[in-house]
Amino acid sequence: MKLFLTLFFAFTFPAFPVFAKTTINDVTNINPIDVKKVVTPQSADEIRSAIKSSNGPISIGGGRFSMGGQTATENAIQIDMRSFNKIVKLDTQKKQVTVQAGIRWRDLQEEIDKHDLSVKIMQTYANFTVGGSLSVNVHGRYIGEGPLIRSVESIKLILADGREVTASRTENSDLFFSAIGGYGGIGVITEATLNLVPNKKIRREIKKMSVSEYKKYFMRSIRENKEAVLHNGDLYPPDYKEVSLETWYNTDKPLTTEAKMIPRNQKYWLEPNIISSISTVPFGSKLRSKIIDPIMHSKEVVVWRNYEASYDVAQLEPATPRLIFTYVLQEYFVPIDRFDNFIPKIRTILKKHDVNVINISIRHALPDSGSYLAWAPEEVFSFVIYYKQMTTQAAQEKVKAWTQELIDAALSMKGRYYLPYQIHATERQFKKSYTNFQKFFDVKKKYDPLNKFRNKLWDQYYK
Ligand SMILES: Cc1cc2nc3c(=O)[nH]c(=O)nc-3n(C[C@H](O)[C@H](O)[C@H](O)COP(=O)(O)OP(=O)(O)OC[C@H]3O[C@@H](n4cnc5c(N)ncnc54)[C@H](O)[C@@H]3O)c2cc1C
Repeated sequence: MKLFLTLFFAFTFPAFPVFAKTTINDVTNINPIDVKKVVTPQSADEIRSAIKSSNGPISIGGGRFSMGGQTATENAIQIDMRSFNKIVKLDTQKKQVTVQAGIRWRDLQEEIDKHDLSVKIMQTYANFTVGGSLSVNVHGRYIGEGPLIRSVESIKLILADGREVTASRTENSDLFFSAIGGYGGIGVITEATLNLVPNKKIRREIKKMSVSEYKKYFMRSIRENKEAVLHNGDLYPPDYKEVSLETWYNTDKPLTTEAKMIPRNQKYWLEPNIISSISTVPFGSKLRSKIIDPIMHSKEVVVWRNYEASYDVAQLEPATPRLIFTYVLQEYFVPIDRFDNFIPKIRTILKKHDVNVINISIRHALPDSGSYLAWAPEEVFSFVIYYKQMTTQAAQEKVKAWTQELIDAALSMKGRYYLPYQIHATERQFKKSYTNFQKFFDVKKKYDPLNKFRNKLWDQYYK
């Protein structure tokens, strides 16, 4: 009976922790992977010996916020980078910092804030490691910016043969352009030198408009505005016809919050509870767009840039055990001139499949500066879909079906999908989205001929 129950729960709800091995998972709790062991190096020598100690697969883990098994594969040794997290050098004159790759943005922010400096490009939240962010080539809400690679001077990485090399646009450029955005497939990024910017006061402005007016307004009034620092537009389900624009501008106005950063022990209860409620009750999204958000957006807010960039993911993520339901992200990119054509496609697919969408966040990115697996080879708008799903195998199959439809919709606009989320794309969709895949595969073959650096993403597409 015990065996039956164990098997029943294991196969019906993969999120139930019924296996006793060393199991890696991510924030969604739907990607359990049994690895051989996890090592937590604190020096380059320890990383080197972990790579050399095994003939089997090596996987690399940062903050483990990717959502599809990108940090592990069965029987791998996972190198957990989070203890390799020192600041190596801070040059306040040049506004440059060199860090060990396991450092989280939050830890870096605390140090550079003392010198009135800010990270130039990062995600909305500060829990992620620099190495994980580089390997995904992430982006944030920054106006006049785009993929993280645009702020990177150089990186160091340890290759499959144990050599540590420096890579930049001019030195070992094939490694630079493949390891950034390379999801741990090329080697272990050990250090990164990043450009920083001044930490300034920013003021929030909220506007609402019809989605049909958005692109014109954005291109004219936000993209070209030198004082605009951060921007995103929120589209509400089920109609996706109205956008709530949140833009942050440089300002001289007095601060409304004196703290330089959000306290580390901040208890976030309001936003996660709102998300949990609106995704559960009928008419939740109407309640949010018509009542809750207008109240939350009614106050004037002036804060430091570092304050707005120091949120913990706990601000977004409802604190549930994620055994039956989980909260998941996806993202799609389309060239800017396809914005208006993509909206009806998203609307139709999400409605047809009755997806429990919490919101879609619209962002903008300038082109990538050359990474082989670029998600923004040209200027793009991006659509970040935040939704709730059940953890059952059946639910995962349903998600796979509508995800593949959305990817085809993005491809029909000459766009693409984002790789850190659930791995539902077919091989055809991966190759059509990331057209320089062969260049990436060639570099991997050259520097990792035995295919040591593996994870679920590369097991799927690198054959
Ligand atoms: C709540 C939430 C909000 C998010 N918001 C954004 C956003 O605003 N913008 C955005 O672009 N993304 C966003 N993401 C996605 C997120 O940026 C990626 O999942 C990113 O990988 C997280 O960093 P991490 O440290 O957790 O990396 P992990 O998930 O641990 O690793 C990601 C990949 O990098 C590899 N890797 C990690 N460290 C190294 C290293 N040192 N050397 C080589 N390879 C390495 C791993 O093997 C893996 O393939 C969000 C995710 C969540 C859960």
